[in-house]
Amino acid sequence: MSSADSSDDHDGLVQRVINCIDCGGRAHLLTTWPADDPPIPGDILSYRCEDCRDRWDLEIPDPSDSRGDLPYFP
Ligand SMILES: [Zn+2]
Repeated sequence: MSSADSSDDHDGLVQRVINCIDCGGRAHLLTTWPADDPPIPGDILSYRCEDCRDRWDLEIPDPSDSRGDLPYFP
């Protein structure tokens, strides 16, 4: 058991606060999950910016795929 809602800004793979893509403000995680079913890479997380109130849906990146989305040249 770990204490929920601590001051940590991340929880495993998940960042609880990100920088808003639009205005650079703080966007807070909206998505919640059961303690025994944490998000995994490929899941969608929703954030809402406290400044512009925009919502952002971001996919959790796969940490093992360090090459990211580079195009593949055969
Ligand atoms: Zn914003």
